[in-house]
Amino acid sequence: MINKIETALKKYWGYESFLPLQKEAIQCVASEQDSIVVLPTGGGKSICFQAPAVTMAGLAVVVSPLISLMKDQVDALIECGVPAARLDSTQSAKDQSSVREKIGNDELKLLYLSPERIVMDGFLNILRDAHISLIAIDEAHCVSMWGHDFRPEYRQLGELKEAFPGIAIHAYTATATEMVRTDIERQLRLKNPKVLVGSFDRPNLVYRVERRKNKLKQVCRVLDRHKNESGIIYCIRRRDVDELCAALRSSGYKAAPYHAGLSDIARKKNQDLFIKERVDIIVATVAFGMGIDKSNVRYVLHTGMPKSIEHYQQESGRAGRDGLEAECTLLFSGGDYGTWQSIMRDSDPEVKEIALNKLREMYHYSTGVTCRHDAILSYFGQTLGKANCAACDVCLGVLETVKDALIIAQKILSCVIRLDQRFGGDYTAKVLTGSGEKRILDNGHNALSTFGLLSDVSLNDVRGWIEQLVGQGYLEKESEYNILGVTERGWQTLRGNETPRLLEQSKKKAEKSKAEKDSWENVDKDLFEQLRELRRNISREKEVPAFIVFGDAALRDMARRMPRTLDDFLMVKGVGELKCSQYGEAFIAAIEKYCEASPAPAPDNHAQRHRFKERLRSN
Ligand code: ADP
Repeated sequence: MINKIETALKKYWGYESFLPLQKEAIQCVASEQDSIVVLPTGGGKSICFQAPAVTMAGLAVVVSPLISLMKDQVDALIECGVPAARLDSTQSAKDQSSVREKIGNDELKLLYLSPERIVMDGFLNILRDAHISLIAIDEAHCVSMWGHDFRPEYRQLGELKEAFPGIAIHAYTATATEMVRTDIERQLRLKNPKVLVGSFDRPNLVYRVERRKNKLKQVCRVLDRHKNESGIIYCIRRRDVDELCAALRSSGYKAAPYHAGLSDIARKKNQDLFIKERVDIIVATVAFGMGIDKSNVRYVLHTGMPKSIEHYQQESGRAGRDGLEAECTLLFSGGDYGTWQSIMRDSDPEVKEIALNKLREMYHYSTGVTCRHDAILSYFGQTLGKANCAACDVCLGVLETVKDALIIAQKILSCVIRLDQRFGGDYTAKVLTGSGEKRILDNGHNALSTFGLLSDVSLNDVRGWIEQLVGQGYLEKESEYNILGVTERGWQTLRGNETPRLLEQSKKKAEKSKAEKDSWENVDKDLFEQLRELRRNISREKEVPAFIVFGDAALRDMARRMPRTLDDFLMVKGVGELKCSQYGEAFIAAIEKYCEASPAPAPDNHAQRHRFKERLRSN
């Protein structure tokens, strides 16, 4: 069976091998054993049920919470040559009856349904008459109140086991907690399910954290690293979305806004522009993202701190679903902590306590001074298992450790004490750098022994170190004014018994992440850009999202191998038989045209050609 599935993986999707845990998950489906599969976003959960579904007799029923997700998945399957359909309330009566007819005629391999639809009166009978091969529940955490996105309609899915006792049910989610998993098993009444939990690490994501100083400048710096690439910028409030979007537009960037204050039509239009790659930048509140599985989002930039690591992981995780390198940058300020605190002020005390703990963990991450991948993983109870992730600002050398951290920390802590622990971070940093601001002179703080002790350092660096000391528990912030106080750990540092770790921006150029080096290896970037243009045109013509025509990984592989025949084109990662016959000639023609236009030796020897072009470039 597994051989047949491997053949189907190549034939329809153009993939040669499985991603981690895919094979094990597929084996459960093939042997009809109930399963719960927890894989991170981009881990390839869909293939776990789609690939066996095409080889098994009968119809696979897939339950999915969002119509937009269903639509994308069905479109992608049809593009690969797999007969699939969906049934939902937005379709016309005619379309719905045509799908029902196809079910009756056994013409489909996969049917996507919303949870409401499946338990609707009479619908279970229609399914009973069809020959069902398997039942897949996507985003299965929605069944659990402990998950971050509980949907009451999902609860009724418990009826499925009773209605189809002989059919295996498989639950897929990216949410890992033990409690959620146990709840999924109970709610769906699974029988002795195999539970597979993958690593939460997303090695292709490069995490960076910066203190927010000059937002627009910092945002533009990220955008300039990703010219012509798709990215999402998250803001905490709607007002911030509108302001930032306007500022970016007036600086010449093409960006579209998205938040709950816009009309349904405007939101849909902007989302479509982004998905079809007519705008590269979407500026949004967290209202944007659920149900978007655009695989080639190359960066997610948070301009404010999210309220929990779960939220950060989910939102930043929308980058790089295709496994290629992507950047996740977080801009934060101490003020974000206060903003969330005040938003949470009136909530139920029990809920508030949990939420405040999550907020503290998030702040701890933001001010952290160790590997970001490791910090996120340890929050979810996993470990990275290596000292250097080679994919975050700490490990790539964007930030480096300050050598005389103990002395600097002592200077900062003593200044907080000299100020009677009655001032906030900004004021303290100004005293330390010797600012001549009127308020400081009026208070006579220019006479303190700690005044100007760090005058050789920039105000921003000192401000950053203060946050790092708060994050590590040497200082604490009190009251709504965020007044700094020295903790017991801080006193230990003053006595020289403990040394904090402090980071500063490195003067050296950051290294490239491993994912970035690997995925661009031998790729002709100019050709890649031309193939993107061709993809964009096809997407426009066919009215399907560009990433459904071909993913970025497939385009890079084309720009690496430079296939000149259909047989060679079929060797490209992500090119199955149907896509080869539909698009092969157009892409080969573009490759030929490109090769003819630029002088190079032996055009079919891509490695030699690449070296030649590199030489041309460096000359
Ligand atoms: P998830 O649902 O877990 O977030 P998806 O099913 O959307 O992940 O898959 C993420 C990306 O990985 C998609 O672009 C998909 O085509 C690709 N993918 C899935 N399986 C494989 C595989 N075996 N080899 C290469 N790429 C794969």
